[in-house]
Amino acid sequence: MVDIASPDALSPARGEAPRISFVSLGCPKALVDSERIITSLRSEGYELSRHHQGADLVIVNTCGFLDSAKAESLAAIGDALKENGKVIVTGCMGAEPEQIRDVHPGVLAVTGPQQYESVLAAVHQAVPPQHDPFVDLVPPQGIKLTPRHYAYLKISEGCSNRCTFCIIPKLRGDLVSRPAGDVLREAERLVNAGVKELLVISQDTSAYGIDLRYAPSQWKDRQGETREVRTRFFDLARELGTLGAWVRMHYVYPYPHVDEVIGLMAEGVILPYLDIPFQHASPTVLKRMKRPASNEKTLARVLAWRAACPDLTLRSTFIVGFPGETDAEFEELISFLEEAELDRVGCFKYEPVAGAPANELGAQMVPDEVKEERWKRFMEVQQRVSARRLKRKVGSRQQVIIDKVGPTVAVGRSKADAPEIDGVVHVAARRPLRVGEIVTVKIERADAYDLHGTAVGY
Ligand code: SF4
Repeated sequence: MVDIASPDALSPARGEAPRISFVSLGCPKALVDSERIITSLRSEGYELSRHHQGADLVIVNTCGFLDSAKAESLAAIGDALKENGKVIVTGCMGAEPEQIRDVHPGVLAVTGPQQYESVLAAVHQAVPPQHDPFVDLVPPQGIKLTPRHYAYLKISEGCSNRCTFCIIPKLRGDLVSRPAGDVLREAERLVNAGVKELLVISQDTSAYGIDLRYAPSQWKDRQGETREVRTRFFDLARELGTLGAWVRMHYVYPYPHVDEVIGLMAEGVILPYLDIPFQHASPTVLKRMKRPASNEKTLARVLAWRAACPDLTLRSTFIVGFPGETDAEFEELISFLEEAELDRVGCFKYEPVAGAPANELGAQMVPDEVKEERWKRFMEVQQRVSARRLKRKVGSRQQVIIDKVGPTVAVGRSKADAPEIDGVVHVAARRPLRVGEIVTVKIERADAYDLHGTAVGY
């Protein structure tokens, strides 16, 4: 859940402008949707409120990915109804409104994911806007919910894969890519507004542009030259790398064409970082999961990437206890972890999300206690691998972007750390550091997740 009361999102109280309290739940993609809704509301003169009480309306942007996320969303709606009474619901859970109305019949409106116009129409109906064009100015980069120095850049909506554990395509539809020119213009506006790090997100970043057949679009680059850029993963990555910000790639699948992008990482055009959700390593489980690129020889590919770009950081997520997962298949996963030596890894125990085709595969469900045991074993193995990889950094110099400053030590992230999901670097410095500043840090110590060091270059 995101605290919407960030300084960027709030403005001083003024007159009788209607006040909206906003709750944003779920993944970075949902966060970008929240930013779009809030940007539109602010441009129409709505104020944001820190609290439900005293606001004219509450909007809850829900997440419906797992049953636990749905429960959290329903609880947030319940709180908003209790504290305020006027509630509009949007986001992933909105794709199945009856799930919400059955529990909370009192909500004013329910709209689905990416239905920005419908959310705004519902808000207008509940609390009409009082637009004042002289004071309701919105910065050209829109309202960001992330700190000023980094921003998520959403390059497409939906997903054309059909992984059997996932209901996202049902909720969000097939892949719809944004033309490259649009994405680059947004990225440029963000960089001009002070963003130092762009986090590229989508459901399947390597599939970017397939739906548009990689159509070229116009972009005027920083030298003022108009050029055509294809709507394609490699082309977009290369152009984003010219903007002067760190560019970090999330949700990439191991298709062969990802190899070209590793070249851009080795050349320093984009960050040597890949967030690549493998989900499993056993070919038979991957087949049952219907994962994209499940036939690729993933371990060989990972080793080749490392050879081409030795600084590459690999982050991934996995699921243990997928229906029918045998001991032998789980062992394949453990061997993969040992050999691939991924830097950062998250692991989920399989949850039979309602509507996911995996529940209908006819495979035997893995008992909860087995899932738990496998999860623990997985985490033990990976913690050893991650700690080993972190330790190798002791003695090196790393560039670190500062996220938070304290009286004696600042907290930042190296090129190997994405915000929220990876570790951090604790930085001692001779002079006060500023949030968003990038400094060179000599790494002196590593613990299980984080690094510690001293700033040696400013
Ligand atoms: S790639 Fe698979 S897991 Fe990811 S959103 Fe698409 S269907 Fe879901």
